[in-house]
Amino acid sequence: MPEGDTVWLAGHNLRQALAGDELVRTDFRVPRYATTDLSGRRTLDVVARGKHLLWRFERDLTLHTHFMMDGSWHLYRHGQRWRSPGFEARVVLETEKWQAVGFRIPVLDLMPTEREDDVVGHLGPDLLGDDWDPEEATARLEARTEMAIGEALLDQTVMAGVGNVYRCELCFLRGLDPWTPVSEVADHRGVVDLAKRLLEVNRYSARHVTTGVDLPGRTHWVYGRKDEPCRRCGTPIRKADQSSYGSERIVYWCPSCQASQERKGGP
Ligand SMILES: [Zn+2]
Repeated sequence: MPEGDTVWLAGHNLRQALAGDELVRTDFRVPRYATTDLSGRRTLDVVARGKHLLWRFERDLTLHTHFMMDGSWHLYRHGQRWRSPGFEARVVLETEKWQAVGFRIPVLDLMPTEREDDVVGHLGPDLLGDDWDPEEATARLEARTEMAIGEALLDQTVMAGVGNVYRCELCFLRGLDPWTPVSEVADHRGVVDLAKRLLEVNRYSARHVTTGVDLPGRTHWVYGRKDEPCRRCGTPIRKADQSSYGSERIVYWCPSCQASQERKGGP
């Protein structure tokens, strides 16, 4: 599932390739927009807000997409073979030079640009946004006193951009049992700053490296490593369900490095 840096990179690449250029052909493969034709419109900007992508066109129009589980935008030169099957394409937007294809995108809306706040206004500070505000993110995190830290990190109204990989890795790196209530976390600003750093260092890459080692099988401390030995202490990594945030439930942690004195709930 996408993390905020994945969406940021998609937006960055689309903006680099398409901003300023006119669309010459558009093909919406969703019933609602089957007859929509945006050809002749120029792309002004493509902006990521957390895991939402806002594709802004001239004359007050925004295409809002959200990847949810495994959606993605691909960029192709004309005639280049698609890397995903055609039936999974939801929208194709073409300029003279490029073809942008949105695959498996469950959320796709056209809206007036001035109404973008309807879909992203609820989000907390954007970890990769130009207007990133660590104080505000810290205050929002601190306010979730009763919430487990593992859940609060997925709460996009606290800060926007942390997905399941980073929330698991953040808890490990801060030595926090994911079920620790936010009120018992010692250094909230430290958590926020580390989230920012992790997304920042990975934003030009398709991978989410948290160990500093960009080699197959070595990129994560705990995520996806059930029963494998902890890289620090050798204890087998555990895996359990946590959170109500859609499908991002599975949490991985080291019961030794992330020990809790008195765990409330959880396995
Ligand atoms: Zn450990």
